[in-house]
Amino acid sequence: MNAAEFRTYGHQLVDWIAEYLEHSDRYPVLSPNAPGDIVRALPSQAPDDPEPFTRIFEDFERLLVPGLTHWNHPGFMAYFAITASAPGILGELLSAALNQQAMLWRTSPASTELEQVALNWLRQLLGLPEDFEGVIYDTASISTMHALTAAREVTVPGVRTQGLAGRDLPRYRIYCSDQAHSSVDKAVIAIGLGHDTLRRVASDDRFQLDVQALDAAIAADRATGIVPMAVVATIGTTSTTSVDPLRAIATLCQREGVWLHVDAAYAGVAAMLPTHRAILDGVELADSLVVNPHKWLFTPFDVSTFFCRRMDVVRTAFSLTPDYLKTTEGDAGAVKNLMDTGVQLGRRFRSLKLWMVMRSFGASGLRREIARHIDLAQQLAAWVDAHPDFVRVAPAPFSVVCFRWAPAGLDPERLDLLNARLLDAVNASGEVFISQTKLRGRYVIRVAIGHERTTIEHVRRAWELLQQHAREIQESVPPAQPR
Ligand code: PLP
Repeated sequence: MNAAEFRTYGHQLVDWIAEYLEHSDRYPVLSPNAPGDIVRALPSQAPDDPEPFTRIFEDFERLLVPGLTHWNHPGFMAYFAITASAPGILGELLSAALNQQAMLWRTSPASTELEQVALNWLRQLLGLPEDFEGVIYDTASISTMHALTAAREVTVPGVRTQGLAGRDLPRYRIYCSDQAHSSVDKAVIAIGLGHDTLRRVASDDRFQLDVQALDAAIAADRATGIVPMAVVATIGTTSTTSVDPLRAIATLCQREGVWLHVDAAYAGVAAMLPTHRAILDGVELADSLVVNPHKWLFTPFDVSTFFCRRMDVVRTAFSLTPDYLKTTEGDAGAVKNLMDTGVQLGRRFRSLKLWMVMRSFGASGLRREIARHIDLAQQLAAWVDAHPDFVRVAPAPFSVVCFRWAPAGLDPERLDLLNARLLDAVNASGEVFISQTKLRGRYVIRVAIGHERTTIEHVRRAWELLQQHAREIQESVPPAQPR
């Protein structure tokens, strides 16, 4: 593609994107595709001859767009609703054009240093102390894996050289609540500790980690020779966005000499609001924390920010410089090479989009948008609370609301099935996409608000659809059975 063609197609593409961002709600939020549609529609082999970009783009529109689930749709209220904002998209475009690979300071001084600057800004916005150093990874799963690797480094003598196998080592333990994200399980598995090393401690009736239960679990483990390695506290759990009592957990971890990692992947950004500052109370005692700007900070996927008070431990665990990557400034210790801060060698210029988002929104704009999402969720929670047939099943501290449709006279198992039917019916509308979870074994509908273009009208429409389909299902169900 020559420069003239690039200009032509580039302009067309930007026009297409601008139209898409403004009118993504013209598409059904959930793809109507059946499994295999796209594989069947595309050739099984790469073309021998070059194809014109117009034809490639036609296929993109004709074959791929119908297979998109539109995360950038204002009716997307599933999982954690997220936004790829316009400034973030432009940053992503530039990042692709520049193709920076910031393994070494030398291979991209701008990317290396902008990461430091952007994360320092974010650190201050979150109210984290200065001794938290930041680094960008792709996802929270990887951030948590690095946190637990650092915990392993300080707990298991000689682990970097000798590993875990074939040695006379005690059993180790990592703790989190029964509401923590599955990325904690995967991290434990990935770093060779074995899944049984993870103990999921009970949460209380607000789905927050029960500190007494944690204390008791640690004591019971110590009594049998098991060595506590780390605790993962969650600020904004995946199902209900519950907030673990950070200060109490941190105090316990300090007493026990155990690494504390804070998973604030979704809700951490809410600490920017004076009203929500307290969610990170006690964080100065933690060892590490993850916050994902790709979740609730309007930055296109993927960017996860990992902050650590002991980044030297992460470097001890991972730094290794082969001859072909040595530099004079690196050897002199005059620069930080990002490849030392983790398992990854090459890394994309992710800080560019984050920096562009933070500058374009400004701290005030970020706060306003996060607060707006929280307000929308509180409105929905109020509607649910006021409805005789819907029951809210968890507090809604942020922008996620969990509830069940529970008309009188039906047993819980039947209600599980009916709620699943209700969710399917609402999602089939194509107007909104809502997801589900299970709490204490029961099926729960979960509405997440987090898109820049989601307004009260979209939330009202989701609520109308829920009520309308609930009425239709109720009319079609057999007469009420006794509970
Ligand atoms: N932690 C929490 C609390 C989450 O909700 C999620 C995903 O939703 C993750 C971690 C994993 O995030 P990622 O997809 O960035 O690995």
